[in-house]
Amino acid sequence: MKYETVIGLETHVELNTKSKIFCACGGHGASEEPNDCVCPACCGMPGMLPVTNKRVIELAVTAGLMLNCDISRYTTFDKKNYYYPDLPCAYQITQLNHPICTNGLVSIKSEEGNRDIRIKQIHMEEDAGKLIHEGKYSLVDFNRTSVPLIEVVTQPDFRSPQEVMNYLNKLKSMFRSGGISECENGAMRCDVNISVRPEGTEELGVRSEIKNMSSFESIEKAIYYEIQRHIDALEYDLEELVQETRRFDEKTGKTFAMRDKETAADYRYFPDPNLMPILIDDEWLEQIMANKPVAVDERIDYYRESGISEEEITVLISSQTATKLLEEVVAAGCDARETVKWILIEAVGVLRKGGKGLDDLQISAEDLSAIIKMVTESKINRNSGKAALAALIEEGISPEEYIKSAGIDRKLDSSDILAVVQKVISDNQDIVEAYKSGKTKAFQALLGACMRELKGAGNPGVIKEMLEKNL
Ligand SMILES: [Zn+2]
Repeated sequence: MKYETVIGLETHVELNTKSKIFCACGGHGASEEPNDCVCPACCGMPGMLPVTNKRVIELAVTAGLMLNCDISRYTTFDKKNYYYPDLPCAYQITQLNHPICTNGLVSIKSEEGNRDIRIKQIHMEEDAGKLIHEGKYSLVDFNRTSVPLIEVVTQPDFRSPQEVMNYLNKLKSMFRSGGISECENGAMRCDVNISVRPEGTEELGVRSEIKNMSSFESIEKAIYYEIQRHIDALEYDLEELVQETRRFDEKTGKTFAMRDKETAADYRYFPDPNLMPILIDDEWLEQIMANKPVAVDERIDYYRESGISEEEITVLISSQTATKLLEEVVAAGCDARETVKWILIEAVGVLRKGGKGLDDLQISAEDLSAIIKMVTESKINRNSGKAALAALIEEGISPEEYIKSAGIDRKLDSSDILAVVQKVISDNQDIVEAYKSGKTKAFQALLGACMRELKGAGNPGVIKEMLEKNL
């Protein structure tokens, strides 16, 4: 029998805010030192009162706009009661009754072309702390307690592990480019709901939920494992499938049962009496919309039209730094494809040498466009352009300053180049002879001599052409 897999996802994303969701402690990644970002409020001390971080609402709404959701103008927080050592209040503040965003839609690539995945809702909540197990002891770090999260819940619309991966990659790119979350270092975690049914049937099979995975590799492996486990159970009657929560063990590559699946009633949700409902009026919504980053789909279309490759697009849209710089440099009159090469190949090359990545790139669009223009207008050659870029990234030297100090600040016309070409030919008669007797390598030697003489100025294509003619 053939089977169909049905998957729904709950993706937790830690928001890129300076402070926590209900207190002024530092947010995600604010300190490496355990229990450094903790106060009476996020520790659940008696008498503490939460105050909602306005930025959390704005980022959640932005995420909703990017995923084509309806934005709730009236949104409230609820308490979800359960005890866990890293949850000092013994409840989590989350949203059950009036989540901030509902009914979204996101288009993803699938084996049969593009498909729409429905977003059931996005709600805001606080993260729990972290437990560190060391031998006999377990330690608790409250830094992460109360860091703001959004949880993006999809309908069970995925039919293959590949679709899930495409969705997660897209979500990550969107949220990174929108400044919503870095989506790295555990800031993006996923629960996968999965069931299997005979192909052509409507009724959903028994569902298992695999909890709390942060690496995309684990998510993919866990889904493949779980699909096979379900099919084996149905096909060979190996085990009885029950609705339950499971965990994925990275070492064994298997999932194992953690607990029976709990329901909302088990948590005794109730409206948080300490937090006022939030009203999002037209003015505030318009403000958020005005600051909303260009939707990823629009941006991708624009990049494709500009002739940028799919591979480059994937890297670009996951970096807010790169997209912003690219758009400003293009606005300054440079070619999009050329600019992408300067950012993704040349600049990244310099950054890598210093052990840094694309997001560490801190150069102005003005300086980068100056370099690109000097190269495309043949005022300097590409190698000098690269050296100017390295000086800019590594030492903050402006391109104009660099070109001047390196002695390549002169405008060349073809008569300058011709003079150099003629000089090189007359100075290197032996190499010229070798070239004429058929040694093609000799040409490179002559070309190199011209470039050295020109100190990096002049367009290599022009120099080459002139050398060929004169030989
Ligand atoms: Zn705090």
